[in-house]
Amino acid sequence: MEGKVYLVGSGPGTLGLLSQRAAEVIARADVVLYDQLPGEEILASLPDAAERIDCGKFGGDHTKEQGEIERLIVEHALAGRTVVRLKGGDPFMFGRGGEELEAVRGAGVRVEVVPGITSALAVPASVGIPLTHRRYTSQVTVVTGHEDPTKEGSAINWAGLAPGPGTIVVLMGVRNLPLIANTLIAHGRDPSTPVAVIERGLRRDQRVTVGPLDRIAALAAERGVRPPAVIVIGGVVELYDPASPVLTPPEGTTNIL
Ligand code: SAH
Repeated sequence: MEGKVYLVGSGPGTLGLLSQRAAEVIARADVVLYDQLPGEEILASLPDAAERIDCGKFGGDHTKEQGEIERLIVEHALAGRTVVRLKGGDPFMFGRGGEELEAVRGAGVRVEVVPGITSALAVPASVGIPLTHRRYTSQVTVVTGHEDPTKEGSAINWAGLAPGPGTIVVLMGVRNLPLIANTLIAHGRDPSTPVAVIERGLRRDQRVTVGPLDRIAALAAERGVRPPAVIVIGGVVELYDPASPVLTPPEGTTNIL
């Protein structure tokens, strides 16, 4: 029997935002390889019979970890199993899903990609921040903040993004927030541009921190902001209203400003 790999996006972390197709293939999985991000609720829904492999736990060198994950996915599929590779949000929004697809295809294994709702969209939406709005901007860019923005040869064109009118959504940006804010200001983004940092979006302990671009890093430090968080930079953040939580705030959600 030939195995098959499903590269599945689990959405931003709640069962309600997992797609029906994702739930279907998870229910049939022999093996589930997951990262830290899928969230408790989704991990609790994995079938009892499925072998679970926590890929967030592999320590050490990143490249080796990734190679090891790809090797495991392929090996289990070649052994005839139905393999679900469960990734937070959408499998192809950062998180190296594209490389996993290449590895699986390279091994000649059948594969289906199940898209997920990326945190880049879902987390701001869930607190009532539209990334585009006719009054503010019709452009939005999603970037990783993982990289030092002052680094020579950065893969991100911060200088091009900064003066533009577009909303900037930063994933993996908590650690570099001070550098990102400074870089954007240095390249011409208005220092008073509002920024929202949404930690643990759609989780019970979600928290939102809002402040101007030139003060957001200090505010985040003061409040002990930690990953995972989605950072939204742009005029649309003015539409955030802490008194009016919208769309499925999980039970007990508090937005402290
Ligand atoms: N593929 C994922 C992103 C992987 S990168 C997706 O489409 O969502 C991991 C980053 O995603 C985190 O550092 C954080 O910036 C963001 N993220 C994912 N889930 C989140 C959540 N529930 N709340 C806040 N940020 C989240």
